[in-house]
Amino acid sequence: MTTAEPADVPAATTVEQEVLDDAAAAVEPMEQLVDMTPLDHPHRLLLVHAHPDDETIGTGATMAKYAAEGALVTLVTCTLGEEGEILVPELEHLAADREDRLGEHRITEIAAAMRELGVTDHRFLGGPGRWRDSGMMGLASNDRPDAFWQADLDEAVGELVRVMREVRPQVVVTYDDNGGYGHPDHIQAHRVAVEAFDAAGDPSRYPDAGEPWQPSKLYETALPVSVLHLAYERLKELGEDAPFGITSPEELDFGTPDELVTTAVDARDHLDAKIAAMRAYPTQIAVDGQFFALSNDIGQGAFGVEYYRLVRGEPPAGGHEDDLFANV
Ligand SMILES: [Zn+2]
Repeated sequence: MTTAEPADVPAATTVEQEVLDDAAAAVEPMEQLVDMTPLDHPHRLLLVHAHPDDETIGTGATMAKYAAEGALVTLVTCTLGEEGEILVPELEHLAADREDRLGEHRITEIAAAMRELGVTDHRFLGGPGRWRDSGMMGLASNDRPDAFWQADLDEAVGELVRVMREVRPQVVVTYDDNGGYGHPDHIQAHRVAVEAFDAAGDPSRYPDAGEPWQPSKLYETALPVSVLHLAYERLKELGEDAPFGITSPEELDFGTPDELVTTAVDARDHLDAKIAAMRAYPTQIAVDGQFFALSNDIGQGAFGVEYYRLVRGEPPAGGHEDDLFANV
């Protein structure tokens, strides 16, 4: 009994294989293009924030601008924001005092916000849920053992050092030592970021966290008092009652004295991305709130320009600069 020699079959398979090989050969360089290492980006910016949405409200236009310009923008968020208020009635059941599932929901909000900003590298410090939102200062949630406010600083700093040594940013951004407005997680984020900035380049510290890398510049976010007062006056003119919940701008207990502000990043061209990213946080940000009242009106100037104070690195000549990567 003879079996037909399958002479023609391999021929067909060979043709098929050739097509596949060609396709693979074409894909390989594409993969290499897509799979860039951090060092393929000449400019690398690392931002350390406390809760999902802080990055967008405070630094969203800056992030969108540098990402659009080809910089590697890495966001590290320290908590999931589990203790936040919920502005969407249908989602109130997720609240910390009910189902306690707001954190997982905010993971989806921050992912959507990053897409709007064009930021592809986002991580949670120590992994999602490693540290929990501590809630506003003085609340019982501050004392939970898993609260970021109670974090072992050595561990938290080590986690951030690991990220710094991996992505090798020249520029690091975090809050001032009051966390901008006194929230425990913002204060803690400041402590962790400053300590990690100082440790990342030191081979004797965290030797298992990668090759040492010393970033060049450390910035704190800043809201100049003059800008804050301007926003207050404008909101009052727009008929908003009690802008920021106060009756006189002198009551504002936050804001950075203008003389401390070194850097103004004009990212007005990216204000649309910032606003779209804010809208990606419906549980946290009211789209009819004061920000949007301002952004629809004078927002271009008020929120498309974001301010910083240089606290490590070479001060700009003349005291002022408009680029976080100046002199880098
Ligand atoms: Zn926050």
